[in-house]
Amino acid sequence: SKEQGRNTYNFYTQKMNEDVARRLLIEEQLRAALEKNEFQVYFQPVVDLKRREVIGAEALLRWNNDVLGPVAPDEFIPIAEQTGLIVAIGRYVLEQAVTVAAGWRNEFLPSFRVAVNISPRQFRDVSLVTFIRELLERFDFPASGVELEITEGVLMTGHAMVDVALLDLSNMGVGISMDDFGTGYSSLSYLRSYPFDTLKVDKSFINDITLDQADLQLVSAAIAMGQGLGLKVIAEGVETEEQYQLLLEQQCDYAQGYLFGRPVPADEFEKMLMTGSKQ
Ligand code: C2E
Ligand code: CA
Ligand code: CA
Ligand code: CA
Repeated sequence: SKEQGRNTYNFYTQKMNEDVARRLLIEEQLRAALEKNEFQVYFQPVVDLKRREVIGAEALLRWNNDVLGPVAPDEFIPIAEQTGLIVAIGRYVLEQAVTVAAGWRNEFLPSFRVAVNISPRQFRDVSLVTFIRELLERFDFPASGVELEITEGVLMTGHAMVDVALLDLSNMGVGISMDDFGTGYSSLSYLRSYPFDTLKVDKSFINDITLDQADLQLVSAAIAMGQGLGLKVIAEGVETEEQYQLLLEQQCDYAQGYLFGRPVPADEFEKMLMTGSKQ
């Protein structure tokens, strides 16, 4: 009926208005978040699959805002990206990650590697490469101790700047990692054209490998292909012992997931490294 139609219409416009309002509020709050010190960088262990030992960590950003409470990265990163705020926020993450990892290399694990996510918009910052170079120099941190995780979205922009930056960073010795491998449309052609060192098989493929033979075949093929191209392969989102065993059989190099540890603040991660190194 007409009445129903109007209610549905009202429902949708109300929902849309709420979405727009929340987005604007997030944007407004994001602008002051760095100054208010509301961000925290968490670390999730990356383990060597065969030895089952921590070899490094992925830095993952957390935001606890005084008005909105905790906001998930999947919600605020895209807004930070669209507004350009990700450039300053991303520098903060890089700086925190390298500072903390430098300490851990000195105290616990000389070969410790830290992975940092870099969004497309950060590559439009002309001083990204210089920023990273100076950061590494400041901490006497080897370039090979850092891995930059990028998704296909970074390469799809088609900007020549991206190609130049990636090549510069790669020539410096910084590791380049293809994140969420398998979820995009052109991962394969990008693997051929860019200086990747690592391939991260998306967790949506790992999820069902114990149940779904097709998923296991895809993961197995991705591992073989990555390794055939001379890349290291990381399985994301490993949650169970059964998944771990299958990945071991497939000779995957590294793994990450709740089975080995959730993302935690630096001090908590450090406790894990401390007890680990005493074993
Ligand atoms: P991502 O780079 O693919 O990061 C992996 C996500 O999977 C993280 O979610 C992590 O907490 C989650 N995860 C890890 N192990 C498991 C597992 O065993 N099971 C399940 N279900 N999930 C697992 P998180 O921290 O919420 O981050 C979401 C996304 O936000 C990231 O996806 C990344 O795209 C983005 N992000 C996070 N931090 C940063 C950052 O500092 N900079 C940029 N540019 N993006 C970031
Ligand atoms: Ca990542
Ligand atoms: Ca390289
Ligand atoms: Ca990922």
